[in-house]
Amino acid sequence: MTKLANKICVVTGAGQGIGRATAEMMVHDGGHVIATDINKDTLAQITEAQTQVLDVTNANAVKAFAAEVGAIDVLFNCAGFVHSGTILQCRESDWDFAFTLNAKAMYMTISAFLPGMLDNGGGSIINMSSVASSIKGVPNRFAYCASKAAVIGITKSVAADYVTKGVRCNAICPGTVDSPSLHDRLQATGNYEKAMADFIARQPMGRIATANEIAALVTYLASDAANFITGQTHVVDGGWTT
Ligand code: NAD
Repeated sequence: MTKLANKICVVTGAGQGIGRATAEMMVHDGGHVIATDINKDTLAQITEAQTQVLDVTNANAVKAFAAEVGAIDVLFNCAGFVHSGTILQCRESDWDFAFTLNAKAMYMTISAFLPGMLDNGGGSIINMSSVASSIKGVPNRFAYCASKAAVIGITKSVAADYVTKGVRCNAICPGTVDSPSLHDRLQATGNYEKAMADFIARQPMGRIATANEIAALVTYLASDAANFITGQTHVVDGGWTT
């Protein structure tokens, strides 16, 4: 496959989970991929893509990275964190961290890479949101839902401002996806088997998603096949919100 041929693609949070699966699929699809993550150990396991340690909450590091890389065609903002808990369990520091990583970091990366895309005549930005956002109120996901709803606002605003300049900006909204951090969250409940069964029980298809099923949507939105699609929230949740 060469649907991303000649496209320079940057992926954040690419060390594991959806980001990793997407970086690998982008390579398979012919893209020149720069896989970035805060975790150098997981990043080191990626052999086919160029890699770069990058903490997306570090504004200076993001700016320096963008200056070094130059113009890119695709930016997949995948790095994120799930805070579990209700509003009464959410400390101010939890709220600040959720918004810094899940939302503010996208403001930083998009600000850093957008000028190069505009100089190049276009590009595709894909932002990781979730159905746990403005789409669906999910129990115990207060700061997460709020910050992922902000991602949808960021996405629509950027899409509206640059729709005439060739830059597309879309949000993807997965349901529950098999990933390392999901297993950590299940362990943290104290009853892994029951927590997994509860997640599966809310899925009409009787299973959660694989990371590759999300990566397939991201690579499509990154490609020229999606040239008429911008400013949308793309739900990929196995029918959970049907
Ligand atoms: P994950 O949570 O297992 O991995 C996240 C990756 O982001 C890790 O490699 C981590 O090192 C990296 N990361 C964390 N902080 C970072 C920082 N400051 N700078 C750079 N990288 C950083 O992977 P996942 O579960 O596939 O989640 C990826 C994204 O998808 C997240 O934004 C998450 O909120 C979103 N999401 C996940 C699910 C799910 O069920 N897994 C569902 C909907 C949305």
